[in-house]
Amino acid sequence: MIVQMKLTAGKKEANRVRDFLYRQGFVVKDVSSDNVAIFGIIGDTKALNPSIIEAFEGVYKVVRIQKPYKLASRDFKKDDTIIQFSDRISIGGDKFVVIAGTCSVETKEIMEQVAQHLVKNKLKFIRGGAFKPRTSPYSFQGLEVEGLKLLHEVARKHNLFSVSEIVAEADLENFEKYIDVFQVGARNMQNYSLLKVLGEKTTKPIILKRGLSATIEEWLLSAEYILNGGNPNVILCERGIRTFEKYTRNTLDISSVLAVKELSHLPVIVDPSHGSGKYSMVEKLTLASYVVGANGAMIEIHPKPEEAYSDGAQSLRLDSFSHVISEINKLAGTIK
Ligand code: PEP
Ligand code: MN
Repeated sequence: MIVQMKLTAGKKEANRVRDFLYRQGFVVKDVSSDNVAIFGIIGDTKALNPSIIEAFEGVYKVVRIQKPYKLASRDFKKDDTIIQFSDRISIGGDKFVVIAGTCSVETKEIMEQVAQHLVKNKLKFIRGGAFKPRTSPYSFQGLEVEGLKLLHEVARKHNLFSVSEIVAEADLENFEKYIDVFQVGARNMQNYSLLKVLGEKTTKPIILKRGLSATIEEWLLSAEYILNGGNPNVILCERGIRTFEKYTRNTLDISSVLAVKELSHLPVIVDPSHGSGKYSMVEKLTLASYVVGANGAMIEIHPKPEEAYSDGAQSLRLDSFSHVISEINKLAGTIK
């Protein structure tokens, strides 16, 4: 971190800042120029809040050089994190993994149909929300624990891994019992008490979705909460951010995949369904995700989207979904 004093600041003010930093255990290196005092703070500054230094009289500017997150950063760990589910199934590294399923867990028949379709396409992960954080309290809120059980049953029967969204610490015990991968939704990306619990009380993989208006740095800091709690199994998920654009439900920030790959060792997947809100865009956005180097995609599908309890407009019919998979396989063949 670099501190620049105001031109008008005297020695007394600079010394006050310096003394404060010494007392915190930092080494302070003077890099002043002729007429302005500048010094570098050497040490682990991730817990040092720049605005505390800015509060000192005579300080003009404080610039952070070190990233505010550590465990999530590529500087800390050079190699890609690969989350292993079994001998041959993993997320991260070179593979592109597709997770798919309905937005909400609905009926056993639907989940069964979806599971059979995933198996037919040689996929290994089934998703379905049982606790739905809906914008309106009058919208379908999910089947809750019954939904988790249903997803669990179908996943086990077909040898699939289950993915579902956790919204509260109180549900942790049931998630441990029934679910293989916990999703933290966009609305909860900054629910820091939930993130701490998922860091400290479980080692199950966590899909951490990017918040509706979260910067990449904020997103990685949320990942840091989970990592810092002791759970190394974090998968980031770009699901679009809110911009002024209304034609699409969200603006899928495809470049964030590249940014995250530079900044972090964590796997990153893309959700083209919430990222666009339109089923007609899902295939091409999935292919784009593959091209930019994402580790996978999470896609909403439904046997009859027009009857879906939630997010039908962005859900692919099963045959269209099979087409996405065959296009991905074709693309993988042409790229490699
Ligand atoms: C979902 O995956 O169904 C969901 C609610 O996603 P998000 O948190 O990205 O809106
Ligand atoms: Mn959804």
